[in-house]
Amino acid sequence: MRVYLDNNATTVVDPHVFSEMVPYFCQMYGNPNSLHQFGSESHPALRKAMDQLYTGINANDEDDIVVTSCATESINWVIKGVYFDKIVNGDKNHIIVSEVEHPAVISACKFLEDLGVHITYLPVNSDGVVEARTLRDFITDKTALVSIMWANNETGMIFPIEEIGAICKEKGVLFHTDGVQAIGKIPVDVQKANVDFMSFSAHKFHGPKGVGGLYIRAGQALSPLFHGGEHMGGRRSGTLNVPGIVGMGKAMELAVDNLDFEKNNVQRLRNKLEDAIEQIPETLIIGTKEQRVPNTILVSVKGIEGEAMLWDLNKNGIAASTGSACASEALESNPVMEAIGAEADLAHTALRLSLSRFTTEDEIDYTIEVLKNAVTRLRSISSTYAYAPEWHVSKL
Ligand SMILES: *Cc1c(COP(=O)(O)O)cnc(C)c1O
Repeated sequence: MRVYLDNNATTVVDPHVFSEMVPYFCQMYGNPNSLHQFGSESHPALRKAMDQLYTGINANDEDDIVVTSCATESINWVIKGVYFDKIVNGDKNHIIVSEVEHPAVISACKFLEDLGVHITYLPVNSDGVVEARTLRDFITDKTALVSIMWANNETGMIFPIEEIGAICKEKGVLFHTDGVQAIGKIPVDVQKANVDFMSFSAHKFHGPKGVGGLYIRAGQALSPLFHGGEHMGGRRSGTLNVPGIVGMGKAMELAVDNLDFEKNNVQRLRNKLEDAIEQIPETLIIGTKEQRVPNTILVSVKGIEGEAMLWDLNKNGIAASTGSACASEALESNPVMEAIGAEADLAHTALRLSLSRFTTEDEIDYTIEVLKNAVTRLRSISSTYAYAPEWHVSKL
C-alpha cells in the first residue's frame, strides 16, 4: 500500500482541477493579452477563476488578488515591496514576524537584516502559537510590517489572526499573513481578519504547482517585484499562467466546498491516528487538537530520530516528514520544535503526518499498524532510547 501523509508539503491535484486545466495547454493556448481570438478565448475561464479566488477568501471587488508563481514569490514580494515603500522610501525600519514562520518569510527577513532593517522574531508559547498580546509590546512608530502566518506548516497550529489583525489596524501597521496552510483547512475570510496582504499557493490545496497568489487590500500600494509588460494591472508582469490560474480557481472552489468534509471526515481520521499514537508510551504531540487545523499531527517519539522513522515508514510505502520540506535533505532538527523550547534531542525526534480529503480509513489503519511496529523495532536498537534520561516533557 502507498500512503501519502505529507500534504503540508504538497498535495495531489484534484482530478476535477486537472480536467478544467487540460483545454488551456494544447487548444486555447493564446496569450490572453493578445488582441486576436486565440488570446481572447481564455478570458471567460480566467474571469471565472478569479471570481472563484475572490469568493474563496471573501475578498471585496475593490481588493486585488494578484496571481504569482508560488507563495514564496508572494511572500518575497510583500516583504521586499514594503521594504522599498516604507523603509527605503519612508521613515520606517522595523518588521515583526514570528519565529516559526516558513523559511520564505524568515530568509527574506534575514536578507533585509543584512541591509540594516531591524527584525523582531516573536516568540511562541509551548503550543507553538504567537499570543496576540505579545505583539502589542513590540510595535513601535518605526514598524513597517507585521507578518504572521495563519496556520503553521509543521504543527498545524492556528494563530489568532483576527486579534493580530485588529492590533495592526489599531496601530496603523501593515499586516501580511502567510495563509498557505489555512486555505482548504479552515474558513479564511480576509475582511474579517483585517489583513492587508495574504499569500497562498495552489499546490497546497489540490491545485497545480507553480501558481499562487497575493491578496492585496483595496487601495493598498505595493511596489512590484517584477517589472515588465504590465500584466495583472502592472502589479506583476509576466505572461499569465492560464492553465495554472484556471486550476487554482477550481481548486479554491473545491477547497471551500470541502471545508465541512475537512472538519468532520479528515479530522476524524486524523484523530484516529493521533489517538493511536498517544497509546504508544513516551510520545508527545505538539499543540492542542482544538487550536489545530484538522489534518496535521506533529509528534515526538522518544528515542527515535525523525529520519530513522521516515526511512521505516517509506520502506512500507508511507510518506511523512520531519520538518520543513525545504530543509528535509539536511539532517537538521525541526526548527518549530526548537522554537517551542524542545531540547535538541527532542527536536530531532519530530515526525509530521499530514492528511488530506483523499486520505482513506484503510490508509490510516495501515499507517497505525506500521507506525507501532516501527516504534518497537527502532526503540529496540536505539542507544539514545536505552540511555535517555527521563523525558523533560514538563519543559514543553
Ligand atoms: C509551502 C509553504 C510555503 C511556500 O509555498 P510555495 O508555493 O511552495 O512557494 C509558504 N508558507 C507555508 C506555510 C507553506 O507551507
